[in-house]
Amino acid sequence: MDDVAETSAAFRRVAGAALLAALDGDLTTTIYGLAPDLTLAYVNPAWTTFARANGGDAELAESPLGRSLERAIPPILRIFYLDAMAHLVPGAIWEHVYECSSPTVLRKFRMRCGALSEPGYVVVSNHLVLEQPAPAASSYDGRGLVTQCAHCRRVRHASGRWDWVPELIEHPPAAVSHGLCPPCFEYHYPDSEPDEPDPPRS
Ligand SMILES: [Zn+2]
Repeated sequence: MDDVAETSAAFRRVAGAALLAALDGDLTTTIYGLAPDLTLAYVNPAWTTFARANGGDAELAESPLGRSLERAIPPILRIFYLDAMAHLVPGAIWEHVYECSSPTVLRKFRMRCGALSEPGYVVVSNHLVLEQPAPAASSYDGRGLVTQCAHCRRVRHASGRWDWVPELIEHPPAAVSHGLCPPCFEYHYPDSEPDEPDPPRS
């Protein structure tokens, strides 16, 4: 058995038959498993379907096992995810909702990571939680002023929600006020409570 087959077999042994059957049977959630060296040790059928449909890395879609997780994560997100994976506690689930929108469709996915009983073996699932037409840029314009996160460029909706609006990234509005959206606030000021004074604005 080569290294890849061995790692994959080890993951299957740690996960157990019941969990594997559940992961394989979940057709609406893309799921992968990681070995302690952060290589892909398992993917479910939905993961393969999604990888093929999205026309990304063809090699990764067809033979994912043994490849580094880093290859499956956009460079800008690697440190964030790898850090989260490194601090997983067996039995606890780490959750994170992220956006993966196109210019015409707003999509949000919930990523859940769970550590298995043996150190370093992790299951990661990505489930589509929201899919709707991309919001119109006009609904973010409060009396001629758009409030944009200085860090990630999400913009604040009248309802208080922060969204990516591709149209506003492509064609930046003339009047912009800068703030920080809640996820960026938490990232940059981890020790502050959200109701403390506003972070610096430009
Ligand atoms: Zn932000």
